[in-house]
Amino acid sequence: MSTITIEHEINPWESMAARFDVAAKKLNLDEGLWKIMRYPNRELIVHIPVSMDNGQIEVFTGFRVQHSIARGPGKGGVRYGPDVTLDEVRALASWMTWKCAVVNIPFGGAKGGVICDPKKMSMGELERMTRRYTAEIIEFIGPEKDVPAPDMNTNEQTMAWMMDTYSMHMRQTVTAVVTGKPVNIGGSRGRREATGRGIMVMCDEALKKLNRQRESTRVIIQGFGNVGSNAAKLMHDAGYKIIGIAEWDGGLYNAKGMDINALVEHRERNRTVKDFSGADAADSSELLVTDCDILIPAATENVITTRNADKIKAPILVEGANGPTTAAADEILSDKHVFIVPDILANAGGVTASYFEWVQDRQGYFWKEEVVNEQLEHIMRSSFEDVVRYSEMHGVNNRIAAYMLAIDRVAYTIKQRGIYA
Ligand code: NAD
Repeated sequence: MSTITIEHEINPWESMAARFDVAAKKLNLDEGLWKIMRYPNRELIVHIPVSMDNGQIEVFTGFRVQHSIARGPGKGGVRYGPDVTLDEVRALASWMTWKCAVVNIPFGGAKGGVICDPKKMSMGELERMTRRYTAEIIEFIGPEKDVPAPDMNTNEQTMAWMMDTYSMHMRQTVTAVVTGKPVNIGGSRGRREATGRGIMVMCDEALKKLNRQRESTRVIIQGFGNVGSNAAKLMHDAGYKIIGIAEWDGGLYNAKGMDINALVEHRERNRTVKDFSGADAADSSELLVTDCDILIPAATENVITTRNADKIKAPILVEGANGPTTAAADEILSDKHVFIVPDILANAGGVTASYFEWVQDRQGYFWKEEVVNEQLEHIMRSSFEDVVRYSEMHGVNNRIAAYMLAIDRVAYTIKQRGIYA
């Protein structure tokens, strides 16, 4: 009987470290490399004064963590939320290192976050907070150092403010300092949909592997934000049946499948998925354990834990969010033979398109959307094949295979460069 507490189980840093240790052991990783790669390289904590609309000054705490810059500049999103913690940002930064290595793009891993409640802040307050946060971390970031991007509760507008603030300090426009910008100011065509597109490619590959067809595949998605709504829309248009959507304020269910384009319109009009006439209301946590063929958690961490893993009915789990499944829940899903496309592979379409954006900004030459999509699909498919091949070769599940592949690539780079110790 496991003595693990739920607090320990849901600490994202512990979750990352547990998988890292298993994969590193399987690889017989050299002890020194193990120590270098397990911990983040640099962690910055900033306290950001912001003028609020009521004339008061509020001070927010922000983080930027660089886990590794061995393979290239740090890369990773910036998250706003009331429960952001340093351990969470650390875990997310490490996942970025492994993710960039899995899809073999020349970036390390980083992540940022600010503890705040964006739902209660005005656009003006968000802009001032974003600009001061950028100014506080300015020595840390840069096109050759560390390149932020959007994540939960940040978006293209946030990236535009970050790019502008950085550029004002540099006295020149530096578009390549962040990715996920509006197309008009150096963003890439196809970036907005890229994480969702990558998820669809992963679903296609999983179906191929398990001899299933899109048309008879019922999908439930948790989270209807950037990742979830784009995955839902692309998959609906491609013939998948989206039967459930779980949001924080309520869920939707329709056994026949929903019209996702109509749902997107409904959400834009009402700012919620609730009361959509094309589906019945459903309990969001029940949706995770409802009968379906593919479950896509695309909201946040720790939604599949020891509390519900044994009730999951989906034979395929494609992780749109980072860290949706705890390490302890993995063991339960593994016993149930659930085919998992792990986060560090499944949601890598976003960072892959971010890499294309960074390349385009530095070249000053912008690609057609078809080129972005084609290159993205190629990288996602070949990375899926690499992970599945690794899993079969080493007799491990897909998640551990993805970690092993990534750790092996980062370790090789560190060894080749030599350790400045
Ligand atoms: P987002 O803020 O655009 O959307 C998140 C959505 O999930 C929101 O609609 C929110 O209401 C919903 N949500 C939050 N908590 C929920 C809960 N407990 N139950 C149900 N719904 C909930 O964020 P996003 O950019 O779509 O990111 C979602 C996840 O995907 C995060 O884990 C993020 O790190 C990961 N991710 C994002 C990208 C990207 O390109 N945006 C890339 C890779 C990974």
